[in-house]
Amino acid sequence: MAHYLSDGIVLRTYKLGETDRILHVLDPNRGKVRCVAKGVRKPGSRFGGRLEPYGHVHLQLYEGRSLDTITAAELIEAHEGVRADWVASACAATMAEACDHLAQEGERATAMFLLLKDALGVLAAGPERPAAVLDAFLMRLAVLEGFRPSLDACTTCGSTDDIASFAVGSGGVLCSRDTPAGLQRLAPDVHAGLRLVTEGSWAEVARGTEPLPRSVGALVRAYLTYHLATDLRAWAAVPRGAGT
Ligand SMILES: [Zn+2]
Repeated sequence: MAHYLSDGIVLRTYKLGETDRILHVLDPNRGKVRCVAKGVRKPGSRFGGRLEPYGHVHLQLYEGRSLDTITAAELIEAHEGVRADWVASACAATMAEACDHLAQEGERATAMFLLLKDALGVLAAGPERPAAVLDAFLMRLAVLEGFRPSLDACTTCGSTDDIASFAVGSGGVLCSRDTPAGLQRLAPDVHAGLRLVTEGSWAEVARGTEPLPRSVGALVRAYLTYHLATDLRAWAAVPRGAGT
């Protein structure tokens, strides 16, 4: 049996048998690592609380036939501020679910790992707009997966004038001539919100006394669902501001 080291973020954990837990870890070099922590649910387990979701951990493992087993664990960053706040927790759960869905076992995931690490760091610091941090994470994830939305030029004719709508299936905005009847008009504040979550800095996303318009989150969710074929279950628990 081969031993190896892994450095990653715990995406999710679930119970196995009476005292064990299975973990999904996002490792920049190995992609998704599925492994088992034996005896972790016994009182006084040698792993203590070091294998909780959203923690950045350093693991020693040995390879098993179907699941690898954790032999030692060191906590690098717990992201305590995420677990202490239920809104931040709901956002982190949605981020982790998206990574769990997209990351493949045995495939490098360096950019995804760094994106998740940055986003969890921002969430743990107590942002004023946690839902916007989630939206920004998801749009950047879509960009990483090859689905950068066109936010300035009509995806049909390329015109940058008279932008009227955002068409999820077309991958971005449409001018008024190319907007089909019945497609909702893109309000300027929603357009600005989409730009912010796609291209803004983490500081710009996190700060701001006003939550982003609800439509921004709805369009981000629709965009992810359409292009990445993932309808995130944890999304429903994320509170959103009032209005459109
Ligand atoms: Zn057009």
